[in-house]
Amino acid sequence: MNAAGAWLVELRRLVLLSIGALGVGWVLGFPWLVLALALLALLGRWLYQLQRLQRWLADPSIEPPEARGIWGVIYDRLYKVQRSAQERQAQLQSRLDYLQGSLSSMHDGAIMVNAKGGIEWSNTAAERLLGLRYPADRGQALLNLVRLPEFHRYFLAAAFDSPLQVTIKAEHVQYLQFSVTSFGGGDRLVFVRDVTKEAQLEQMRRDFVGNVSHELRTPLTVIKGYLETILANAGQLESRYRRPLEQMEQQAARMESLLKDLLWLSRIESVRTQPRREQVNICALLEELEDELHTSHPGRKLLLELAAIDTVAGDYRELHSAVSNLVLNAFKYSKDDSIVTVGWRREGGRLLLSVQDQGIGIDMVHLPRLTERFYRVDDSRSSATGGTGLGLAIVKHVAAAHRAELRIESTPGAGSTFTLVFPG
Ligand code: ADP
Repeated sequence: MNAAGAWLVELRRLVLLSIGALGVGWVLGFPWLVLALALLALLGRWLYQLQRLQRWLADPSIEPPEARGIWGVIYDRLYKVQRSAQERQAQLQSRLDYLQGSLSSMHDGAIMVNAKGGIEWSNTAAERLLGLRYPADRGQALLNLVRLPEFHRYFLAAAFDSPLQVTIKAEHVQYLQFSVTSFGGGDRLVFVRDVTKEAQLEQMRRDFVGNVSHELRTPLTVIKGYLETILANAGQLESRYRRPLEQMEQQAARMESLLKDLLWLSRIESVRTQPRREQVNICALLEELEDELHTSHPGRKLLLELAAIDTVAGDYRELHSAVSNLVLNAFKYSKDDSIVTVGWRREGGRLLLSVQDQGIGIDMVHLPRLTERFYRVDDSRSSATGGTGLGLAIVKHVAAAHRAELRIESTPGAGSTFTLVFPG
């Protein structure tokens, strides 16, 4: 029965009850009293139904009450609303269980942190990697339980663009990588991975490159020494041997600078995790570099524009090698009579060290890969200029070790600007 029909039945029942009561009352001589009693009885019945309804609402697990008429319709509707709410809740719960199940079984640690920094949930891998226990630690501040200073700084700085790698020196060295995603109104999802194997492999690769470069230097020095001696006595040489020997000497020199760059790169890569806190006077560094280049490249024009006197916390040799690589590139890839400008200035709270040339420039397609080892825009040109292909890789590593960003702007045919942007 629908609601309108039920109301009609209820109304008809009320009218019939009233007429009946009045009729019986009229026969008995008390029509109003009997009517009042009949209406009271009806009211009592409604109160009884209301009480059954209240009991059922208080405990939805009991069977819903049965009734006819409008009360039956009301119970029916409420029962349907209750059932669909239960179904929706069960669906949501099963989705939640599914999500939590997949996060729980993850090999990586996952921790949900609320806007106040308290732990909402964490999985079993987070217990294995960080010792967080769920649900025992629920509501506790994450930073009170994860006592890693680097992670504290990273988490509080809230700059989550790149992950953080932390070295834990316990019985065995362990490397953990944290990545954080913000969601909702300031909540955060923290993922933590054990990257010890990857880090050890990377270390092995670096050591290997470093050792091989080191081992190759001694035989190369011997070869170079003999070549130099032979060529110094060139007068006694048959002319057909001179050209090949000169080429051998050139290539040996190239190989030597390649080994030098490889060794230097592996050195700055391996000390990267130890912060160096010497205050480097950039103006003095640039003036010294200017003097050196004046001697090594007497014909070249270098212009210093020093608009800041700020120092940078870091390593003098590394910064010197980065700027000198940039300036030597600027010399290599521009005409001999063009000017190379090196600037040191403050801009928008940051410190900018720029090297600008008016050379051949670089097409935009090459920019994303330019700092890769041995990446060259034009192989023939680079070999002709004697480059090792490692210069910009060194610059990038030095920049990263000093929390600086390397910006490259270039217009083919007009020139390039390489800028190291240091946080102010
Ligand atoms: P290389 O030793 O070959 O110069 P780098 O790593 O220093 O190696 O540079 C990588 C490549 O980037 C170079 O081969 C060159 O093509 C390009 N490049 C670097 N600096 C400049 C510049 N100032 N102007 C034009 N091209 C450049």
